[in-house]
Order: sequence, then structure tokens, then C-alpha cells
Amino acid sequence: MGGWFKITLWKRVMLGLTLGIIVGLGLHYGIGEQGAKLATDWVKPFGTAFINLIKMLVVPLIFTTLVSGVTAMGDPAKLGSLGGRAIGLYMVTTLFAVTIGLGIGTIVQPGAGFDVSSVSAEAISDQQNKIDAAGEATKGLGERLIEIIPTNPVASFAEGNVLQIIFFAIMFGVGCLMAKEAGRPVAQAVESAAEVMMKITHIVMETAPFGVFALMTWVMASQGLEVLTVLGKMVFALYLACILHMAITHGGIIKGVLGLPLIRFFRGITDAQAVAYSTSSSSATLPVTITCAEDNLGIGKPVASSVLPLGATINMDGTALYQGLIALFAAQAFGIELTLAHYGMVALTATLVSIGTAGIPSVSLFLATTTLAVIGCNAEQIVIILAVLFPFDRLLDMMRTVTNITGDAAVSTAVAKWEGELDEETFRKVSTV
Ligand code: ASP
Repeated sequence: MGGWFKITLWKRVMLGLTLGIIVGLGLHYGIGEQGAKLATDWVKPFGTAFINLIKMLVVPLIFTTLVSGVTAMGDPAKLGSLGGRAIGLYMVTTLFAVTIGLGIGTIVQPGAGFDVSSVSAEAISDQQNKIDAAGEATKGLGERLIEIIPTNPVASFAEGNVLQIIFFAIMFGVGCLMAKEAGRPVAQAVESAAEVMMKITHIVMETAPFGVFALMTWVMASQGLEVLTVLGKMVFALYLACILHMAITHGGIIKGVLGLPLIRFFRGITDAQAVAYSTSSSSATLPVTITCAEDNLGIGKPVASSVLPLGATINMDGTALYQGLIALFAAQAFGIELTLAHYGMVALTATLVSIGTAGIPSVSLFLATTTLAVIGCNAEQIVIILAVLFPFDRLLDMMRTVTNITGDAAVSTAVAKWEGELDEETFRKVSTV
């Protein structure tokens, strides 16, 4: 047992991930239907327990760390420059992401030769029901901006509304600072609560190797690699575009702009990437991303606690990149001619829609209804495309989520460095072996 804990956590998590893939594929191809049932009945519950454990941390962790981050910063005016830099860089990376998605989609042609008439009527009507039920995901940006102000913070906590909690936590932190002496006991209590929450997060992260194993076993046992036969080119295009985006855009920020060692950055966030890959949710991964940022990348609490939760909602590079690919997939499958203006519109829409939606599994596909309308798809064509993509989304979603949280971590590192909140010694110390 002692030997287990001597192995660094990221290696144990990667072991869980690899074994999960092997066992899951073994069950899928070895015993087929029975294997999938076995994994769903007996292994998935452990994965769900793990997801529940990390989700349990999200609300109290964001609130306490953000309030103590603001009070530690000492000067509310600093919040403005920090927030401005974060939002600006988030927008720039997202635009790069869509551009890479559109570029790879043009080269790989994921939709060329795809036979849309083969989609079953059942899949189409199933999809229509899902779209009807998803009105929430397609709200306008203006409406979403106003909703950031909570009318009842307790309700925001109860619903786990991250943007509203961020808004209230910042106001609360600023209030503590303005109240000076009188605010100090409250600020100290919240700071101590934040420390406690970080400790609980560390305990939960010790269960990550098992949680990741269980989730990967279940995903692979129930889905197998069938997606490769149906949407092989799409999978290839997405994985390639995500890897390029992480290497060029995120890598460019870390190495090119900040002059920091790239390998240590990627090593520092391996745990978060593995959890993102297996859970397909950047919101659920948030506690792990925050811990990796503070412990491994040396990002100061004021930055990690504000920029990362913001990023989990407004910065979704993988999601935006996928919007570009979906647009090209549909255009190629239906033979729609795209002009340069269409490309521009897709880039703009993808950036905007990905800002207003929280990172949860398969949210990309709901956003795609807007993207597809932009290139001139009619309602029927939109439903067909989603009916093609939905059943096989998981493997794609996993990679998008990794890209989403990598973007959050890269931008946080940049903001931390610019704000003087990056402990470079810690960053450079991350062990790569
Ligand atoms: N699952 C992704 C996330 O949580 C969102 C998406 O569907 O692209 O970040």
C-alpha cells in the first residue's frame, strides 16, 4: 500500500486511464453486449462516485478560494486588469482555435463522401426531441450577461451557477476589503475554509486513479471504437486540430510569449487533463485544474481562483474548434458552397456561443444548431447532422474537454506571470519523470 502512494499521482492516474482503456476494450470486443452491461452495472458506479466527489467540491471551493484570492490581492482595482487580461486572452485563444478547426476541416474534409441519407428516421426524431428540450443552451449572449448577476446568491449556490457564484464571491471579497478591520474576521474565516477545501480536494484527488479507471472502462466497454468506422475522418480531424492547437497556441503562449519550459507546463496539468478526458466535463474537472495550477504551476491564489472558474465557462477552445469542424462537415456532406464570409461568420459565432455556455458533456452539439444555421443549413439538415454526430460524441467530447482545460491553464499562467502572481520556481520544479 505504502508503495502505491510513493508513485507520483499523475503516474497513478495515467495508469488508471490506460488500464481502463484496455479493460474496457477487452470487455467490448471480448464479450460484447454482456461486457458493456457488466461495465455499466458494476464499474460505472465507481466512476459516478468519483464525478460526484469532485462535483461536490466545485461550489464551496470556488467561493472560498475566490473570496480569499480577492482579499489576498488587497487592491480591488487589480481585479480589473486581471479580469481584462484574462477575458482578452480567452477570446484570442478561442479565435485561434476556430481558425485551426476550419483549417484542418478544409484539409482533412471530414464530411466529404458522407452519405447523409443513411441516417435512420428514428435517430432523427430522437435528435429533434433533444433539441426541443435544450432551449436553455441556446439563449442569447445579452440575456446570459445579465443573468451573471444573481437575484438570490443562495439559489446560485444551490444550482451551482458558476458565473453567478464568481460575481457574488468577488463582491463579497471586495466588501471584506472595504470593511477593513470589521471585515477581517470574516475574511480570515473564509480563508481558513479555503484551506480546508483544498485539503478535501487533495483527498478526493487520491481517488482519481480509480475513478478515471472506472470511467474509461465504462466508456470503452459501452462504446468501443465503432466511432472510427462511422466518423473516422472526423475523429482524426478533431484529435489532430486539438493537438495542434495545444502545441501551437497554448505552447506558443507558454514558451514563446512567457519563455517558460513547455514540458513542465504539460506535466503540471497531466492530472487535470486525465480527469477531463475521462469525465468529459471541464466544470467537473475544475477543482483538479485549480489544484494543479496552484500546486504544480505555482499560479497564485488570486489568479487561479478567479481565472480558472471563469475559463471553465467562457473559454472553450476545443468546443469552438469543433464548431468549425462541424460547419465544414455539414457543408461537405450536403454540398453547401462556403464563402470566405461564411468562414468569418462561423469563427465569430463559435467564439460567442462557446463563451456563454458551461463546460458539460456534449454541450458542443447543442451549440452546433447555431453554427449550422449560420452556414445556411435548414432545420431538417441541422437535425440530420446532429443525429449523425450525437451517438458517437463521447470520444470526441473527451478530447475537446482536455483542450478546453488546457486553454484555461495556459491563459491563467500568462495572467499570473503578467500580474506578478507566478511562482516560477514551483513551475520549473515540476518533475517530468
Ligand atoms: N464537454 C465539453 C466541456 O465540458 C464541452 C463540449 O461539449 O465541447 O468542456
